[in-house]
Amino acid sequence: MDMETLGWNSFFQQHLDQLSDKEAIPGRIIRESKNLYQVYSEEGELMAEISGKMRYEAQDASTFPTVGDWVALKTRPGEDRATIINLLPRQSKFSRKAVLSGGVPGSGGKTEEQVLAANIDTVFLVSGLDHDFNLRRIERYLSIAWDCGAAPVIILNKADLCDDIDSRRAEVEEVAFGVPLHTVSALDKTGLVSLEEYLMPGKTSVFLGSSGVGKSTIINSLTGIELLKTAPLRESDQRGKHTTTHRELILLPSGGAVIDTPGLREIQIWLDNEGMENTFRDVMEFAEQCRFRDCSHSNEPGCAVLGAIETGDLDEDRFQSYLKLQLEMRHLSIRQNVKARRQASKNFQKKIRRIQEERKKGLR
Ligand code: GDP
Ligand code: ZN
Repeated sequence: MDMETLGWNSFFQQHLDQLSDKEAIPGRIIRESKNLYQVYSEEGELMAEISGKMRYEAQDASTFPTVGDWVALKTRPGEDRATIINLLPRQSKFSRKAVLSGGVPGSGGKTEEQVLAANIDTVFLVSGLDHDFNLRRIERYLSIAWDCGAAPVIILNKADLCDDIDSRRAEVEEVAFGVPLHTVSALDKTGLVSLEEYLMPGKTSVFLGSSGVGKSTIINSLTGIELLKTAPLRESDQRGKHTTTHRELILLPSGGAVIDTPGLREIQIWLDNEGMENTFRDVMEFAEQCRFRDCSHSNEPGCAVLGAIETGDLDEDRFQSYLKLQLEMRHLSIRQNVKARRQASKNFQKKIRRIQEERKKGLR
């Protein structure tokens, strides 16, 4: 198996090269169960365990490998088992808080970071264009995507059930500041081709969205269409042999990978200010004009936010959703990795600006 297709790059190579053990090879975690890891490597698919040293030195749950992680492995001659000796740094990660025993979020209780998926390039935010359509929810998912350090892409699914796609798109564009937006119908497979640019070899994505929006249907179509096209090639494919266990990192025939874990499906909000600022940039801009720096926007004189709601420049619902998120953030606030995520967010902003420039010039 070609490691580049799986997402291996110079960033991970550099970290692997720094290890004192020169015989270690890279592997990517497909699934974890009961301390046993299913891993893709250049030696094929292996089952691996963490070395005693690594277990001993682990500081908390977040330093254990998770689906999507790259690890350094030592194979055991004559066995299809391997030992994981190192977790390579993550380029992006999806986490949620887990409350440690005795702790309650928001009460100063201790929470621990639980990493659900690692090294994700694209976060697809899926909404249904049926009764499920909800702008506030899209805002929340956008915050999560930005926090994770990956680029969000919005998918409006079930286009076949909607008579007014254009105005829906316009509404989304208003809250989603230049985030790529694709309208599809997974049921009749229209529009899915437009997702291909994110599913290239080496790229990893996750699909987020409420239950019933069509995530499984989309993922199935993505594997299905391509599988049919490439069926003869796959007969000699080693991968076919191990289809008995369920994979959480799924290789698409297009070359890209999709991570779909039970944990991701029930993701809770794990936010920091960065995601908030991006999603609610308009609210933040009004807030900067408030007379008092610590304005709570409830009844202060000279509050620009309340002023904007009064004049209709700011939607009352949007402000309510901002307040709600802020409250949750306070409960779940984390200070780890703030710098890394700030950089990731900056990079993303740069990318969006570039895309907008290209669009203006008619290159896209
Ligand atoms: P998930 O919970 O997000 O994985 O959603 P599923 O993929 O299980 O889809 C939920 C339901 O929506 C199923 O009955 C699908 O057949 C249906 N569905 C998915 N995509 C479409 C679509 O584009 N149009 C219509 N009309 N139904 C869809
Ligand atoms: Zn104010």
